[in-house]
Amino acid sequence: MSDSDWLVLLPQEAKEVIEKSDGWGRLTCRISGPDRAALVVALSNEDSDRVPVATDPGHFLMTAGFQPVGHWYAVPEELVLTEYFLVRQSATLSFDEFHRLVPKAECPVSGKWAIAVTYCAQPPAISEDETLPAWSAWIVTDSSVQPMLLDIRDGNELMDALEGLWPTRALASKRVLLFGAGSIGGATAESLASYGAGQIDIVDPDRLLFHNIPRHVLTTKHVGRTKVNALTQTLGSAWPECHVTPWPIDLVANADLVRPLLDESDIIVCTVDGVEPRRVANYLARRAGKPIVFACVLGDGRYGEILRIRALPEVGCLECQRRRLREEGRIDLETTLDRGYGTGTRHNPMTAVGGDLHLIGQLTAKITVATLLRAQGELDQTLVDDNLVIALRPTPGYTDPFDATRMLDQKWYRAGRPYDDCPACNAT
Ligand SMILES: [Zn+2]
Repeated sequence: MSDSDWLVLLPQEAKEVIEKSDGWGRLTCRISGPDRAALVVALSNEDSDRVPVATDPGHFLMTAGFQPVGHWYAVPEELVLTEYFLVRQSATLSFDEFHRLVPKAECPVSGKWAIAVTYCAQPPAISEDETLPAWSAWIVTDSSVQPMLLDIRDGNELMDALEGLWPTRALASKRVLLFGAGSIGGATAESLASYGAGQIDIVDPDRLLFHNIPRHVLTTKHVGRTKVNALTQTLGSAWPECHVTPWPIDLVANADLVRPLLDESDIIVCTVDGVEPRRVANYLARRAGKPIVFACVLGDGRYGEILRIRALPEVGCLECQRRRLREEGRIDLETTLDRGYGTGTRHNPMTAVGGDLHLIGQLTAKITVATLLRAQGELDQTLVDDNLVIALRPTPGYTDPFDATRMLDQKWYRAGRPYDDCPACNAT
């Protein structure tokens, strides 16, 4: 182990302990040789007992062996400068040179190695706008000391690091209610979190099964769990600022439980297969006076459709949009949703591929986020129009709006007015 491409991972809690001290301590790592990586899992403050630090139990190094092979040291700025030049020259220090700068450094016995993590409270600036990094890591033997890679979990990976570049604050206060945690819904949920939505409630009673895996954002390690619980865990680890609440219930059967969630939401997204749940979602959203975005793949995966129904008196609901299509002699592919699509049964095999479903899920999140931001006055988030049909595998023979002939052709059209006799629209 003398190569400089080894990596040390330092959890936030360990970082905080080291920053508060100006001394030294011991490190315990889990280390994987094949992966050339070490994760700090416990540390001492000088001669104290080693205290475990919080780590992600699912991290791949948590199954690797323990090795009490490291130290951390508070160091002077001269060591930081030395590292700067060493890295540029691909050079190493002798242990004696390292020891001169870090008097507490412990020399490994011959043939052994150790990891050193060093922290300089006031790292030197080498120009007006470049200060050298406070943190470094080193591979130490009795003959040589050389820099190695270090990555620290320190909060900079959080969403609010984008503040000023993206309206993170506006989205952090928004709550999205998502119906459906299938292939489209799972991708929508991930994407909503990655845009910075502050709260997501996900409603879906289904468990993740083996046949879902090729099309779902979730992986085999979650097979058997409810999709909402698995998504809550995966989103929580990637986007800790996003508060996800799982609701493993059926939208149609539990409308009474779902209704209060609508009142607390800023927008609803419906990715559930089947005409009946879409009708229920449509009705509930209208009653609650909330905007709703419907997403699905129609015609055996040939077209993606995303319908945004704003909560405005001049905009008709989903039922009104469907009825207008039929009355205008255009086609209504929604009936293909009731052919058992998505259930993967033998007589109705799933025909849309995972990538297409994820694409529609991500576009759905984009449209949802744009709708929220536009309402907050973000003019660059003004959408082309309310309704989108996008061609995934266009087929001749369909009529408007499903008549695109080129893949990824997009047809945007206006959501029409409500019908006077629409029960959903006139209940508001
Ligand atoms: Zn209506």
